Amino acid sequence: YKTDYISLDQVPVWKHSGTTSAKPFYKANDELNQKISLFRGDITKLEIDAIANAANKTLLGGGGVDGAIHRGAGPLLRKECSTLGGCETGEAKITGAYCLPAKHVIHTVGPIAHGSVGETERQALRDCYNNCLHTATKNQLRTVAFPCISTGVYGYPPEQAVEVALKTVREYLEDNSAQLDRVIFCVFLKSDENLYNSQLPAYFPKD
Ligand code: ADP
Repeated sequence: YKTDYISLDQVPVWKHSGTTSAKPFYKANDELNQKISLFRGDITKLEIDAIANAANKTLLGGGGVDGAIHRGAGPLLRKECSTLGGCETGEAKITGAYCLPAKHVIHTVGPIAHGSVGETERQALRDCYNNCLHTATKNQLRTVAFPCISTGVYGYPPEQAVEVALKTVREYLEDNSAQLDRVIFCVFLKSDENLYNSQLPAYFPKD
């Protein structure tokens, strides 16, 4: 038993801070708003049904969040991943989580952007979020956390990635909210926390 595990009760539902300049893109829906969290910290500590991994196409481990997930899960994760035949950009594959507190890891491969984004990259990042959510619901997993896919080494501008992440999750929840209890945006950097706090009210407005 590890005392630094973070259970769902320790991850509050995201709340509007009050004032915002963001114009809402969607109708207020409190039921959906109750399913969103913004958590700043290490995704490997979350004791939830599934954490998404920003992996590379080999699925055999890498740096950043992928490295942290493989270090935390232990060598059996790499062993299972080695049977999967890799993963294409935008796709998602599920594994066990081994020594991590989460039940599953959903590996997805974000687009490589190197600072500039076109429709191909945007669509691939949408596919990542949609395919992870679809994989979760298909496996009856009700709580899912996402890192900021592609915004590290893969160079997707964070201020553009946040819009894709929030829009895709909002629209997925519109259609599938009964199957999910919580989607956690797990940010690591203070700058990403600020971006999410400024953009969340546009996608999850209150009355
Ligand atoms: P990519 O190759 O898809 O760009 P990276 O792992 O390089 O993936 O970066 C994706 C995001 O994950 C970045 O915002 C980075 O700060 C963040 N990150 C790194 N380690 C962790 C961690 N342990 N938990 C959550 N997020 C993390």
